[in-house]
Amino acid sequence: MRIDLHTHSTVSDGTGTPAQVMREAAEAGLDVVALTDHDSILGWEEASAEADAVGVRFVPGIEVSCKHRGISIHLLSYWHDRADADVRDMLALTREARVHRARAIVDVLAADFPLTWGAVADRAGAATVGRPHIADALVDLGVVPTRDAAFDRILAPGSRYYVPHFAPEVTAAVATMRRAGGVTVFAHPGATARGRVVGDAVVAEMAHAGLVGVEVDHRDHDDAQRGRLGALADGLGLVRTGASDYHGTGKRNRLGENLTSPAAFAALEAARQR
Ligand code: AMP
Ligand code: ZN
Ligand code: FE
Ligand code: FE
Repeated sequence: MRIDLHTHSTVSDGTGTPAQVMREAAEAGLDVVALTDHDSILGWEEASAEADAVGVRFVPGIEVSCKHRGISIHLLSYWHDRADADVRDMLALTREARVHRARAIVDVLAADFPLTWGAVADRAGAATVGRPHIADALVDLGVVPTRDAAFDRILAPGSRYYVPHFAPEVTAAVATMRRAGGVTVFAHPGATARGRVVGDAVVAEMAHAGLVGVEVDHRDHDDAQRGRLGALADGLGLVRTGASDYHGTGKRNRLGENLTSPAAFAALEAARQR
């Protein structure tokens, strides 16, 4: 069984529609695939219908932007109640903060490049706006050749163009998703290329708040990190997952390049029922 529990569509910063992602998942030989757009569940219905049509099992998910002491943390959640008021409030605040933050980044960039908010807004459309949409607008202008180059040269934390955005405290987000029936997994906890990462004590706090799993097998982790994070997960009684973090043509990550074992997936499902 091939199980990939982390993908993005045009509902956030992936380049394929939710239906396209499901079709590609079937073509990639996946049996189970989760759609985990940033701070939005708006792709669930379309993905679910197409997954049924192409014969893959769809898992409704999300990647929640969170923080701990200024460090950005991504939290995957599966199966939570999309109508839960606390979940909706939390996500609405973050999406609004993302718009303000994207506008602030554009303001700084506009001093050096002929970039407008309108161009970025066009690129984002109705999606949860993120730096990849700013990258796309910079590619359109010929400032950089690709999204990757935009992140390397302009959009990374530490760049003078970088602006952070509000996001909920991660332990509160774990508890909120849990109360709404969600099963949470700490996404790419050791991805140092994305910026600073939190220490083991924070993962323990998250476990205490109801975290179920750790995404150990991810492109951004080398073998040493996988060993360390796998041991950390074992020590805390957390499930070890793996996934592609597919973004369509927006990133190099390929569907199915990292997988979650059937036993680990069964453990996530068991946590859902508790
Ligand atoms: P943001 O959501 O605005 O903080 O932007 C972070 C998102 O950009 C994450 O979902 C990453 O997957 C994506 N991202 C990070 N680095 C790159 C890169 N080098 N190329 C394309 N996308 C990236
Ligand atoms: Zn993304
Ligand atoms: Fe992420
Ligand atoms: Fe992601």
